[in-house]
Amino acid sequence: MKHSDFDVIIVGGGLVGAALALALRHSALEVAVLETAEPPACPPEDWDARVYAISRASQALLTRIGAWQALDPARLAPVSGMRIRGDRTGARLDFDALEAGCETLTHIVENRHLQAVLWQKLREAPNVTLITAVQAQALQIDAHRAALTLADGRCLHARLIVGADGANSWVRRQLAIDPLTLPYQQFGVVANFNTGKPHHGLARQWFRKDGILAWLPLPGARMSMVWSCSAAEKDALLALPAEELAQRVAAAGNHELGQLAVITPAQAFPLRLNHVPEIVRSRVALVGDAAHTVHPLAGQGVNLGFGDVATLAGILTAELPERAGDYLVLRRYERDRREAVYLMQGVCHGLQKLFNNDHPVLGDLRNWGLALTNRLPWLKRQLIRHAMDA
Ligand SMILES: Cc1cc2nc3c(=O)[nH]c(=O)nc-3n(C[C@H](O)[C@H](O)[C@H](O)COP(=O)(O)OP(=O)(O)OC[C@H]3O[C@@H](n4cnc5c(N)ncnc54)[C@H](O)[C@@H]3O)c2cc1C
Repeated sequence: MKHSDFDVIIVGGGLVGAALALALRHSALEVAVLETAEPPACPPEDWDARVYAISRASQALLTRIGAWQALDPARLAPVSGMRIRGDRTGARLDFDALEAGCETLTHIVENRHLQAVLWQKLREAPNVTLITAVQAQALQIDAHRAALTLADGRCLHARLIVGADGANSWVRRQLAIDPLTLPYQQFGVVANFNTGKPHHGLARQWFRKDGILAWLPLPGARMSMVWSCSAAEKDALLALPAEELAQRVAAAGNHELGQLAVITPAQAFPLRLNHVPEIVRSRVALVGDAAHTVHPLAGQGVNLGFGDVATLAGILTAELPERAGDYLVLRRYERDRREAVYLMQGVCHGLQKLFNNDHPVLGDLRNWGLALTNRLPWLKRQLIRHAMDA
């Protein structure tokens, strides 16, 4: 095989693309990862404001590909419980890991730290070629292979192209697949804080009139905030000096963690749901945010992407390499993922609409629903198990 010929070229080496390449590292497939920008360094004194709650299923995948055990335990925060509050007094839902018979519900990990570990492992994988600092310019597909032309004039060939290039996927655009996009008219504002009181491994979430506020535990006396709010609220938060931002966030969370101090300045991301009608074509498959996006209120975006990885890698490694881009093989991947993706998009969208609504009857309903669920241990156990295994 010439080194411009591959079985699989993965466009995009974010968490999902990098994890897929690693999941194929012991296969007979020759894999290339094309990434415009190598992940940034991960200085120990910096805390990334983009953090993920890693489900048990994602943890199992990361363990299989050798990444979980390479993470620095000092950068991982186990979550032992969740405290969810509605926008009326007494509307509360508490989850504890012990209720589900385990010690932790999830672990919080920083984006940059996980990305650095995945790339360190990729550099050691003998069948993976990393191609960085160059843009793809054209994609052509025929019955036998796909050809990817790069901006520096190189032409790469593969049996299968995987689009792991995020929510604005270039690969998806080359196929003229248009997602159905529902912008939430909301932004996710993220920042990290030192806390005055210990968080005891609890994640906290408030469904407020001005948006959904989440505090996720970080190692030590630190926490990471995601505040999903309107454009006007986002502008107001980003304009605040650090001390005032810390006071505003502390007050919004009823000072549950005492006084806060900003350690990673606030940044904002637009929130939208992308429903992609087709995630495979002959010789092409989409994974991760290229294939779907969800509202971050349930913290499941990257977990859905890791679910894509587990399924696609399972199918590809069980097939002969020459069948890697066959439409019928790829259709199996599409069918297997449909239910999990639709379910998660539906649940997150429904909750977002339910809580971002001024209607008084819906107001009663959502707060009553939280309080009722809190009194039904059986239902709570089911919800915990579903979220952990998502
Ligand atoms: C505010 C916010 C909070 C979130 N919180 C959570 C959470 O708590 N839990 C959770 O599970 N998810 C969360 N998410 C979602 C999560 O960030 C995404 O689901 C996840 O990053 C998707 O990973 P990905 O690898 O598919 O895409 P990306 O992370 O977007 O990676 C795409 C990669 O492709 C590269 N690329 C793009 N175009 C090209 C090209 N043409 N050629 C080559 N390379 C290219 C990019 O450089 C990038 O490295 C959150 C999202 C937001 C916005």
